Amino acid sequence: MPSLEVLVPDIGDFSDVPVAELLVAVGDEVSADDPLLVLESDKSSMEIPAPQAGTVKELKVAVGDTVSEGDLLAVVDVAEAPAASEPAQAPAAPAAVASPPRPADTAPAPAAAAPAAPPEAFERGDVHASVLVLGSGPGGYAAAFRAADLGLDVAMVERHEVLGGVCLNVGCIPSKALLHVAKVIAEAETAATHGVSFGAPEIDLDALRTWKEGVVAKLNGGVAGMAKGRKVQVLHGEARFTGPHAVAVLGPDGETTTVSFDHAIVAAGSRSVTLPGVPHEDPRVMDSTGALELEDVPGRLLVVGGGIIGLEMATVYDALGSEVTVVELADGLIPGTDRDLVKPLAKRIGERYAAIHLSTKVEAIEAREDGLHARFSGDVEDAVFDRVLVAVGRIPNGAALGLDTAGVTVDDRGFVGVDERQQTNVGHIYAIGDVAGGPMLAHKATAEGHVAAEVIAGQPAVADFRGIPSVAYTDPEVAWVGLTETDAKDQGITYKKSAFPWSASGRALAIDGAAGLTKLLHDPETGRLLGAGMVGPNAGELLAEIGLALEMGADVEDVALTVHAHPTLSETVTLAAEMAAGTITDLPNPAARKR
Ligand SMILES: Cc1cc2nc3c(=O)[nH]c(=O)nc-3n(C[C@H](O)[C@H](O)[C@H](O)COP(=O)(O)OP(=O)(O)OC[C@H]3O[C@@H](n4cnc5c(N)ncnc54)[C@H](O)[C@@H]3O)c2cc1C
Repeated sequence: MPSLEVLVPDIGDFSDVPVAELLVAVGDEVSADDPLLVLESDKSSMEIPAPQAGTVKELKVAVGDTVSEGDLLAVVDVAEAPAASEPAQAPAAPAAVASPPRPADTAPAPAAAAPAAPPEAFERGDVHASVLVLGSGPGGYAAAFRAADLGLDVAMVERHEVLGGVCLNVGCIPSKALLHVAKVIAEAETAATHGVSFGAPEIDLDALRTWKEGVVAKLNGGVAGMAKGRKVQVLHGEARFTGPHAVAVLGPDGETTTVSFDHAIVAAGSRSVTLPGVPHEDPRVMDSTGALELEDVPGRLLVVGGGIIGLEMATVYDALGSEVTVVELADGLIPGTDRDLVKPLAKRIGERYAAIHLSTKVEAIEAREDGLHARFSGDVEDAVFDRVLVAVGRIPNGAALGLDTAGVTVDDRGFVGVDERQQTNVGHIYAIGDVAGGPMLAHKATAEGHVAAEVIAGQPAVADFRGIPSVAYTDPEVAWVGLTETDAKDQGITYKKSAFPWSASGRALAIDGAAGLTKLLHDPETGRLLGAGMVGPNAGELLAEIGLALEMGADVEDVALTVHAHPTLSETVTLAAEMAAGTITDLPNPAARKR
């Protein structure tokens, strides 16, 4: 195997530059352009990339050594002959100089190749980090901690006082805390029909709010503690890119700190969409953050938007005693989701809520002293509400970050385009989570954060998930992972469906979950699982099994042959698979031989 010597390239006027970090060890396999080590003067920082794919044979320097142009840094056994267009990296060359880092800053859309190295020397800021993470949500903190655990020096910037982003502070966690209480109330209500009455709930809103805030505080305090433990430098302030290797952070004290970085991960998340014709400045008009504050329990609540967030908050306020009206522009609730999964939810809330208006637009809302007067499209009558929750979607925060100064492409909506390694069009800048595209979910942000950190650390990671689970934590819960029937039909994908109705599950009957359903989609040729959907109590938890099965490439028979405990809701997964495998005995078997 030919060897290639990696020398210090032209680094301008610098000499005797210290080696700050070795990013590889002898024996490591590297791809072309993988960073091998970092040189760091008091003015700038530069990664030296592998000129070609191969195995690190020798490292000729250690951390703290000083080097100048032409010095030998490492020897790499190269894996294959170089491309004809790269004569400078020819493995046969006895003393090839490490190719100058590729001009990633000006490169078009990145290919799924090796991570890009910083292309040129750059000015050091007040703070310098090997990896700068912008945003501390489930994407940002996961990326920061993974990068730190991989030995990289990390700074994380967050404009709010607390860490954890939308999910921990004003999203997933507080909503689930309140939904838990809603579930307890609903179950107590149902128990009355089984002979056990608790009476009407007495709700102490202050205590409920304090409890919810306590749950949130435990988690965001935990994130802060873990940042400290991992020596991730946390900066509080509004960050803005000022160049390809620099951000300025405007702190709460009005002071600006400049931060330079070798790599950046943009994890700036998203925010609620506002609606024209709606007086958002009126305190009675809320977004999801306002709704989670639980200022009061309005007598009449209008929820604009019948998607997951709107319906989760409707579930909470309905349980607490509000009379809820939902208005949705599309012709069904949770648009895009398979109709058979939404049906049991639509039925339950259709019976409970004051009204659900589908295919209806809010034309205008007028704030008057006696309430918020709403005008709707079509035949829907005007109505007055005490509060309005606007939950019509979220838009990414990519447009206001100064990313143009770094050469990063941001689309019209504010999404930052990335490839499967989370790299933007600028090779050393990555984007993850809500700002990098849908589905806007915390676990997707976290998974992408790990990928970005691992790619930066030179690991062969890609975001290639078989399924990102989606869950509406409504009553009943609606959950799906992998291929949906809606998508299969839209995309012309051939599939076979098998379903098990929870009305045939003893456990579901015992917990008032008979309206539920578990369905599996599989490839008719191979039997391989393609996706699953569920509706019913705990559907979000049950889905995890199918997520694993999808990642493992299981087929329906694998699931049918996996013995599940009886009586559990998880059994419905096996039973749906048995429907496909033709082995079902808990229902009439369509595949049974005729006698
Ligand atoms: C009510 C509600 C309920 C939800 N429930 C769920 C759920 O149950 N499950 C689920 O998976 N998802 C849920 N989500 C979605 C989930 O919260 C997001 O998908 C997730 O938070 C995205 O993570 P992120 O890291 O991309 O961004 P975020 O969590 O939005 O974090 C981005 C962070 O970047 C910071 N930031 C932005 N710009 C700057 C700047 N210029 N300088 C410094 N800091 C900046 C922000 O302050 C924020 O803290 C819910 C969302 C809402 C609103």
